[in-house]
Amino acid sequence: MSDAKNEIGVAVLGLGNVGSQVVRIIEESASDLAARIGAPLKVRGIGVRRVDTDRGVPADLLTDNIEELVSRDDVDIVVEVMGPVEPARKAILAALEQGKSVVTANKALMAASAGELAAAAESAHVDLYFEAAVAGAIPVIRPLTQSLAGDTVVRVAGIVNGTTNYILSEMDSTGADYASALADAGALGYAEADPTADVEGFDAAAKAAILASIAFHTRVTSDDVYREGMTKVSAADFASARALGCTIKLLAICERITDNEGQERVSARVYPALVPLEHPLASVNGAFNAVVVEAEAAGRLMFYGQGAGGAPTASAVLGDLVMAARNRVQGGRGPRESKYAKLPIAPIGLIPTRYYVNMNVADRPGVLSAVAAEFSKREVSIAEVRQEGMVDEGGQRCGARIVVVTHQATDAALSETVAALADLDVVQDINSVLRLEGTTE
Ligand code: NAP
Repeated sequence: MSDAKNEIGVAVLGLGNVGSQVVRIIEESASDLAARIGAPLKVRGIGVRRVDTDRGVPADLLTDNIEELVSRDDVDIVVEVMGPVEPARKAILAALEQGKSVVTANKALMAASAGELAAAAESAHVDLYFEAAVAGAIPVIRPLTQSLAGDTVVRVAGIVNGTTNYILSEMDSTGADYASALADAGALGYAEADPTADVEGFDAAAKAAILASIAFHTRVTSDDVYREGMTKVSAADFASARALGCTIKLLAICERITDNEGQERVSARVYPALVPLEHPLASVNGAFNAVVVEAEAAGRLMFYGQGAGGAPTASAVLGDLVMAARNRVQGGRGPRESKYAKLPIAPIGLIPTRYYVNMNVADRPGVLSAVAAEFSKREVSIAEVRQEGMVDEGGQRCGARIVVVTHQATDAALSETVAALADLDVVQDINSVLRLEGTTE
């Protein structure tokens, strides 16, 4: 503790959506938080870019000198809610090296630099907490690191990006195409002006890296995560998914798998996938998030709630702040990083899943058997085929659409099959190839 009044000095870096809610809750709940911690929290300073803007906090708290703020002797804990990777990384490293505990909501940073930051926290014997970096308000980091510390986690799968879930839910419920659902999400404030990080899966991949690292005691970074965005999912895919009793979700999946040589590996991947309507993730709609954890002894656990937004994210930040402050008061620190397993990363080609392939074909006899033969040659077993005729603008038959759903096959076998299908002269277009998750047949 930094002073004789036993106050815990806090520096808050960032006063935007999340930071302003963090500061509000610290002020409004001061006496409850003091009772829970055993000492009062005191905000010593707030780091922003523009100090001359009125923000409803005492002006003397604002500073644009982040380096000076995190180095102050009366600061015990640094709360980093400014993003992006830099200058946040530099500020957090400086804070840790000077013996301050750190709470951050910065998923991009934790997915890229967790090792470096954890090492700095370890040498300084301080806490580094990041519950808010994955799925906003939803407690998932602490359950994985603490509640399930004695169990063996085998799979973590979730919807961890509210923007894309909002867009996909809109497409499903209204029949809208991707562009108009994205425009709606932007108008309602669910999508940023540049939605690339969300719709191309980068944000979900960062969260998958964090979840996989913790669940499997192995360092996993964003670069290890296989990633496909959801911009090519079409209204026609939703219609086909419905006919198959499914919806489509952008999933982050982290799995412990055993390869053909008996080697245990970690798979972390993000892609849009068909999900059966009876699966718990199928009913997670709008901007909500959910994470399903499967552990050997616990079985299946589901965490659901608001994955973003100022106040929900601030709730997770405050939870970490209270933990770090309690540790300061009582002496000691929370659990350290656990990366002992050091499992290799599984390449996507090894991963078995079910597939949905939607293609336009010539409308003539023998087409179906030619298509089926390409699957069979690569031992990709077909579970279901649907075919419907297509008509042109003049009402003339102009081909057929075939939807094939496979049993489990490796990504490598399916990719070869799709390449061979595209070369068949009876196949006019491969409209889409999506995975089907949530069933194993
Ligand atoms: P935001 O609204 O854009 O606010 C960012 C704040 O940080 C602003 O106050 C900004 O100062 C300050 N800042 C940015 N760069 C700075 C710099 N170089 N030096 C000093 N101050 C700087 O962001 P946010 O939505 O609150 O998100 C903050 C962090 O939380 C990000 O890492 C984000 O990924 C994470 N997060 C956000 C959510 C969410 O729902 N928003 C959910 C989970 C995690 P000015 O005000 O002067 O511009």
